[in-house]
Amino acid sequence: MSGIPLRVTPMNIVPEVAALDAEMRAWRHHLHAHPETAFEETVTAAFVADKLRSFGLEVHTGLAKTGVVGVLQSGTADTAIGLRADLDALHIHEQTGVAHCSRNPGRMHACGHDGHTTMLLAAAKAMAARRNFDGTAYFIFQPAEENEGGGRVMVEEGLFDRFPARAVYGMHNWPRMPAGTFAMRAGPLMGAYDIFEIVATGKGAHAAMAYQGKDPMLFASHAISALQTIVSRNLHPQDAGVVSVTQVHAGETWNVIPEQIVLRGTVRTFSEDVQALIERRMRGIVDGAAAMFDMTATVRYERRYPATVNSERETAYAMDAAVAVVGAANVDTNPTPEMGSEDFAFMLKARPGCYVWLGAGQGPDTPNIHNPRYDFNDDVLRIGASYWVTLAEQQLPRVRA
Ligand SMILES: [Zn+2]
Ligand SMILES: [Zn+2]
Repeated sequence: MSGIPLRVTPMNIVPEVAALDAEMRAWRHHLHAHPETAFEETVTAAFVADKLRSFGLEVHTGLAKTGVVGVLQSGTADTAIGLRADLDALHIHEQTGVAHCSRNPGRMHACGHDGHTTMLLAAAKAMAARRNFDGTAYFIFQPAEENEGGGRVMVEEGLFDRFPARAVYGMHNWPRMPAGTFAMRAGPLMGAYDIFEIVATGKGAHAAMAYQGKDPMLFASHAISALQTIVSRNLHPQDAGVVSVTQVHAGETWNVIPEQIVLRGTVRTFSEDVQALIERRMRGIVDGAAAMFDMTATVRYERRYPATVNSERETAYAMDAAVAVVGAANVDTNPTPEMGSEDFAFMLKARPGCYVWLGAGQGPDTPNIHNPRYDFNDDVLRIGASYWVTLAEQQLPRVRA
């Protein structure tokens, strides 16, 4: 994308959040300088737990190893919502050159989870100071969003039994959208992430005497082409799916037909029906190609992350909060979903809720997330934190005498 206008025109920054702006930047830079990866976020978790305690919250640690939940209760209402941020960094060598650059070689906050953690901490501090709600807010800091499914582990460990939120909300910074904007939609916003491994076993032979063997290379060349017909020939044109073969492993030398070939790749979908159809067709194509060349083949198909699917009602609530902070002109209520995947999907399978994108772009050249030159845009900290406070106070309204 290019030519993104800058729209940093927030309208309703919560005053207690605005007062935290310098402190938020300091927290964010501290977290950025000390990135930790999946299930090893011990220093980060301790930082979060200390801050939450200092704001007066009840703090629970050790969920999914390094997860933290802060509980803030006010008034008498027996209702609760969950707000979620992620703690982990990525295995990337940082190339930003900023003063708060990573001190942990090979690890980097390249997805902005340092900013997410900071915004949720600031929301907790502001809400604790304001006490302008009736009910309970759970501040959920999950480990291992990247690859390892820390959100799934938290849900499996009984997150919502211990902290019975009626709905759960998530947010991710989005450098492809202008700073000061939000986007969300009911239904899928991020895709399901599946992986597959296909192993075909033929019969090795001298390459000059190919008639004595069963060549798995031929299997692969036909299977890879045929797998691309699933999306083009089997899916309804309105449905979306991606089938990508990303690895082919076989052969060692010039004159030997190898015995075996291994294909690996990923499948992305938005609906479980399409996901099931792709897996079924993949197995059919692999069986057929193996039969065609008189060999055997196996498919290992693993469903890693489900699609991130927002519920109707909670998406409307999230829109209300975003509009209250940045104005309707800066809220995109029908963004094009992305096929990247998000661990928050597991929480959305357990509870209704909404995951939103927070625009963080500073122009067309803003590095995107997972880029070694990416850095969270500190100017949106107060916007995201104000969204959290506004959403929570709207969803847990105080009954005024
Ligand atoms: Zn990421
Ligand atoms: Zn992320």
